[in-house]
Amino acid sequence: MSMQAKLNTEITIEELCEDFIYNEVEGKGLQGMGGDLIIQPEYQRNFLYADNGGDKEKKVIDSILKGYPIGLIYFNKAKQDDGTIKFEVLDGQQRITSIGRYVTNKFQILRDGRETYFEGLPEDLQRKINKTKILVYECEGDESDIKEWFETINIVGIPLNEQERSNAIYSGKFVTAAKAVFSNSRNSQIQKWSAYIKGVANRQDFLATALQWISDSKNETVSEYMSKNRRSDDISEMEMYFNAVLDWAKMIFGLPVKEMQGLEWGRLYETYHKNQYKSESVQKRVSEFLADEAVTNNKGVFEYVLGGEQDKTLLNIRMFDERTKRTVYQRQTNEAKEKGVSNCPDCANFGNTAQKAKIYELKEMDADHVSAWSHGGETAAENCQMLCKYHNRSKGNR
Ligand SMILES: [Zn+2]
Repeated sequence: MSMQAKLNTEITIEELCEDFIYNEVEGKGLQGMGGDLIIQPEYQRNFLYADNGGDKEKKVIDSILKGYPIGLIYFNKAKQDDGTIKFEVLDGQQRITSIGRYVTNKFQILRDGRETYFEGLPEDLQRKINKTKILVYECEGDESDIKEWFETINIVGIPLNEQERSNAIYSGKFVTAAKAVFSNSRNSQIQKWSAYIKGVANRQDFLATALQWISDSKNETVSEYMSKNRRSDDISEMEMYFNAVLDWAKMIFGLPVKEMQGLEWGRLYETYHKNQYKSESVQKRVSEFLADEAVTNNKGVFEYVLGGEQDKTLLNIRMFDERTKRTVYQRQTNEAKEKGVSNCPDCANFGNTAQKAKIYELKEMDADHVSAWSHGGETAAENCQMLCKYHNRSKGNR
């Protein structure tokens, strides 16, 4: 069955906002039209207009007062769990919530040079707002049609991100319960999570992370996991795993530092949590590497230490610059020519007859740490020697 849509031009803002309820805790408009309208069905995202100082919600009210259209709004006629038929806002949730918040005196707009609540407006302006009619498309159709279509239209304004789209596609008890924990900007845990995870609660970043970690740990895709758990309101498995990952990170690395934010903690936990570590020495090594100027990828330090300091590519060690290389090459080559030996010290000492006196060109050589970086050798001219490519490679990590 395809979707039916009917245009309704008769709904006024007064009717729209009858019994408007806004939930401060979840940051969303809940209902309007005397309870017949569900403003934020499960597949909708959190209210975003009030962010950034509420510029966008103020603009909605300005538009109405100036008589500008605020655009089409889409309702979906849907049967609720209790059997009643209600309208759900498919598109226009943010505009409706802005209007509802204004007429219930939740924010002020600048009017003749001063900030004014709805109740402070002159009566004619209050009436103008109340009597403004909105353009509503009332739709009716299968859940899948509606959702597919919802994804297509909801690209205006603030685009849906991937997690918001998944929330729409897999809407149900699981997403609702998960959002109450992970997408709730009043959750006091968020500050703690933010030390490890980059993002904002109402853009679903923590929820996306929690889902990624649990589904990775089960070798499932996020879609599989969401689809499998869709009808359940039990999010304890995901919550417990999420907390286990963060508790482990805290236990190993101690107080969080800024470089930890945004690391792949789920993967690190899966890879390393069965190993034994002395957190005191781990933390000491981490701070040493973070302070080392030769380490140019600070984010790699944590895994480098977890992996027993083997994989130096994680640290992206700063190498000698071209000027240093040229200077050292010149000095070595001059000395070698005087002595009649190779300008690669290893060739001079250990090479065969042909190599012992060979003078390499600069481009045939590589810079090497005399005292290995991994043993504390600095990346400075005094610690630089040029070796032929063969000997530099064979020196490896020793
Ligand atoms: Zn050599």
